[in-house]
Amino acid sequence: MFEESYRELRPRAPLPELRVEFFSFANVNNTIRLREGRLLVRLSDLLEGAPENVLRAIAHILLAKMYRRPVDGQRAAHYRRYVSTQHMSRKAHLVRQLRGRKQIHSAQGHSYDLDAIFEELNIRFFHGLLGRPQMTWSSERARNRLGHYDPAHNAIVVSRIFDDLRVPQFVVEYIVYHEMLHLKYPVKLRGSRRCVHPAEFQAEEKLFAQFEQAKQFLSRL
Ligand SMILES: [Zn+2]
Repeated sequence: MFEESYRELRPRAPLPELRVEFFSFANVNNTIRLREGRLLVRLSDLLEGAPENVLRAIAHILLAKMYRRPVDGQRAAHYRRYVSTQHMSRKAHLVRQLRGRKQIHSAQGHSYDLDAIFEELNIRFFHGLLGRPQMTWSSERARNRLGHYDPAHNAIVVSRIFDDLRVPQFVVEYIVYHEMLHLKYPVKLRGSRRCVHPAEFQAEEKLFAQFEQAKQFLSRL
């Protein structure tokens, strides 16, 4: 993609050696440098898995900036639209929480230990076969998001509001179990629509004995 973009901008110039890699910035950040005739490009790893036309857009933008050529407005707009989607801004927000701050949130809360809950559920439902991601209580007391699995950082984050002995253990277990199913069933693209909870996912979720009670508890929040 970068080669094609380069050709488009500088059809007659020789193609320099290119190194393009994804990099863990604390933000959606992309850099380009010219070092000893080599072009070094670092793309935010938040863009891993981005649609091809988004990656082509960022290739164009970086190279146009590097060689002081006009940036194509349509492609710039396309890239900006993608980065500002809710999906991306949530990802970026979480990354800032995980990487941007010094404080590392831990699995051990005041009332519940997410690592222990994960391990117990792993044996109860998955024959111990799931690799444990980073388990962490959220830094904020989010009410709109109970928990989520972030594949980019292989982390399960559970809202801190549940780290409370007034919340029954099976409710915390249910939230973790739900996110473990996301580990087991990665989000698939079906056509252009993201299928987040496929039928097998939903069927397996109901194997959790207190599924209904947990749902009921959560609906009263
Ligand atoms: Zn879900």
